[in-house]
Parts: sequence; structure tokens; C-alpha cells
Amino acid sequence: MLSQIYKESGISPKVLALGEEVLAGLKERFTEIDAIAEYNQLKVLGAMHKNHVSEMHFQATTGYGYNDTGRDTLERVYADTFHTEDALVRSQITCGTHALNLALSANLRPGDELLSPVGKPYDTLEEVIGIRPSIGSLAEYGVSYAQVDLLPDGSFDYEGIRKAIKPNTKMATIQRSKGYASRPTLSAEAIGELIAFLKSCKPDIICMVDNCYGEFTEITEPSDYGADMIVGSLIKNPGGGLAPAGGYICGTAACVEQVARRLTSPGLGREVGANLGTNPAFYQGFFLAPTVTAGAEKGAIFAASLYEKLGFRVHPASETTRYDIIQAIDLNSAEGLKAFCAGIQAAAPVDSFVTPEPWAMPGYDDEVIMAAGAFVQGSSIELSADGPLRPPFTVFFQGGITWYHAKYGILMSVQKLLDAGLVMC
Ligand SMILES: *Cc1c(COP(=O)(O)O)cnc(C)c1O
Repeated sequence: MLSQIYKESGISPKVLALGEEVLAGLKERFTEIDAIAEYNQLKVLGAMHKNHVSEMHFQATTGYGYNDTGRDTLERVYADTFHTEDALVRSQITCGTHALNLALSANLRPGDELLSPVGKPYDTLEEVIGIRPSIGSLAEYGVSYAQVDLLPDGSFDYEGIRKAIKPNTKMATIQRSKGYASRPTLSAEAIGELIAFLKSCKPDIICMVDNCYGEFTEITEPSDYGADMIVGSLIKNPGGGLAPAGGYICGTAACVEQVARRLTSPGLGREVGANLGTNPAFYQGFFLAPTVTAGAEKGAIFAASLYEKLGFRVHPASETTRYDIIQAIDLNSAEGLKAFCAGIQAAAPVDSFVTPEPWAMPGYDDEVIMAAGAFVQGSSIELSADGPLRPPFTVFFQGGITWYHAKYGILMSVQKLLDAGLVMC
């Protein structure tokens, strides 16, 4: 039954057989992932029950958005799920970078210093902080920055961190996912150890965690381990693939209040910001997020195992416990990278008929190729892949709103590599 439909869908019996063989060895891992999703499903439902989510909360508001109980209740649902005092969840927060910029700039003042104890932050934060000079950066507002890299084995440089903390170190930014760097992704527990250390050095330091790609990959979040704020994008894990845009900041009442005033205005804070009809997608997406994240994680592990078996270097290795949904694979040639992306694109629900081509993306030294056929532009909880055309021709790949789509996309990528004579199987 399945082999026939896969054949009609462009997957040869050979590739399917290889996929099934790899999958047979992943049963236990998948069972563990399902248990995490089950736990998190109940966590989200518990928060929805506690806050009496009801049909009236799905109504659109316009204008100022005063008394938007749907919006306010959604924020309670996020806060209760992530065990924080308060939350802001808004479509007016345009993306993850915006949410992070708000959390930082709202809680820092001229003369303060920001510390990253986990090495260089995500690319887009370089201009937010002013590591790369940029108009409107924190540096322009007199906020300085210090960074302590991880030790070569990926552990925290506690001595270096202790030395880097100064009387004006107001805040620490801690990135959970490795993003597109080569360091390991941090578990919520490891982040907790770091936060405990930071607070033992300076009790009033504000610890913010960039939680992008990490939500629901474990049964705990960094907010369960003392983070003052966790911050992320709704077109990644917590939007469940349904949120059309948006970002969140969950944290202490004091930190979130600062962010609300920065997002809108002093005096207005969280009271304004019409939902413009996004509430049904926000609620339903959050409801789906635990299983959607689990599907994406299965895809990452399946890809790692399959490509490892084909002889490629993968990061993280297939056996590694996951705390995010990103998988990197060294494809060793431009042709390999292009074929991989062509496979992901061909499997997409949208724009499956186009072939991705490398292009000179502004801000990058090398050409970049991207595959995405998403319902929501740029959504990376949907199956997507990209990579710069330079050795070792690494593709970064993530997402998959359903596990079956992720599986099909990965099989299709192998098929394209096989068709191009770049792998043997
Ligand atoms: C995606 C991401 C961001 C930035 O989010 P955008 O929505 O692309 O602005 C920041 N940090 C990490 C770790 C991310 O994965």
C-alpha cells in the first residue's frame, strides 16, 4: 500500500527501503519524543483549562485593542504553560529578532552592560547589540557588551564568566539552540546551572534566554530553571505552524512590564495592541505546538540517521539527545547541496514545482541556496532547508508540520542525490 503511493510520489523502492531500515532502528527514540509531546500537550491543555479559554476569546479586535480579553487570556495561557509570572504574545512583534531586541532594549539602560556567557549570539543579534555597528543598536544607546566563549569541549567557562561580570553587568543573554553555529545546543537544565552560577556571582542579574527552536523539545523550559525571560518567534515551534506572524516574551512581571512599555509606549504598555483576527491561529497553533515540534524533531533524527548511514557527517550526530529541531548535514559538494534542497522543495505543499537556485543574498560572502514551500512566509517550523555554497556544503534543515511530510521531504532529498549519482544505496 505505502510503497505504491511512495512510488507514485517519486520515491523509488530502493530509497524507501533504506528509509524503513533506518526507521526501524529509531523506534525507541520516537517513543521518547512522543512521551515528551504527550506531557507537553497536557501542560498546554492544563493552562487552557485553568484560564477558561472559550469561543469569545477568538474574536478579532481593531483599533487600540482595549479590553482584548482574547489576547490577554492567550498571554495567561503562555505564562501558565511556561510557568512564568507574565507574558506578552503579540502579532505586533514581527519576528524572533524583534522579540529579542524588545526584551534587551526594554530592560537595559545607558551605562549597563550585556553579557553573553555562551559565545557569539545569533547573527541577527549582532546588529541589535552593535557587535556589528548598526543604526539604533544598543551600543548607540550606551549599552556595552561582553562575551565569554564556551570552552573547546562545549562547557561553560565559569572562571571567565566570573571575571566578566562587573558592577554594571545588568543582563545576560543565553541562546538555547546552537542556531547555525557549531557549538552544542543547551538543555534547559544546563541553562539552569548557568543561571544559578550567574546569580551566585550577581544576584540581581537579569537572565534572558533566546528560546527560538527550543520550545517543547523537553518537558521543561529554561523558565523552569530561573530564567527571568524566555523569548521566541511564533513562526517557529510555539506557533504550531498556524500562527501567521508574531513573537513572545514570557517572564517575571517586572521584566515583561518593561517590554510592554517598549513595545507600545510608556503609559500604554500592554493595554493596547488589537489582535486583528490572529487569535484563533495563535490559540490553535499553541495547542498543536507540542506534536508539531515532535514531528520536526523526528524529522531531524531521521535525517541524521539516514545521512549518517549514507556516509555523510551530520551535526548533531544521530544518537545525540535533542534540545532543538535543527539538523545540519555536510553534503561535500555544491551539487549535493543543490540536490538536497531540490528534494525538500519538491516535497513541499506549496511551490513544489520550482527548483531552488543559489543567489547572492545581501550580507553573505557566498551564494546561498534555500528550499521552502511554506504556507507562512519564512516559517521555519515548516519543512525548510538552506545553506551557503562553500565547503563543506552544509545544509541546515528544520521543521515539518507533520512527521510524514518531514519523512517524505527527507526521502525525496536522498532520491535527488541518488538520481544525480551523488550517493549509492
Ligand atoms: C530564528 C532565530 C532567531 C531570530 O528569529 P527571526 O524570527 O528569524 O528574527 C534568533 N535566535 C535563534 C536561536 C533563532 O533560531
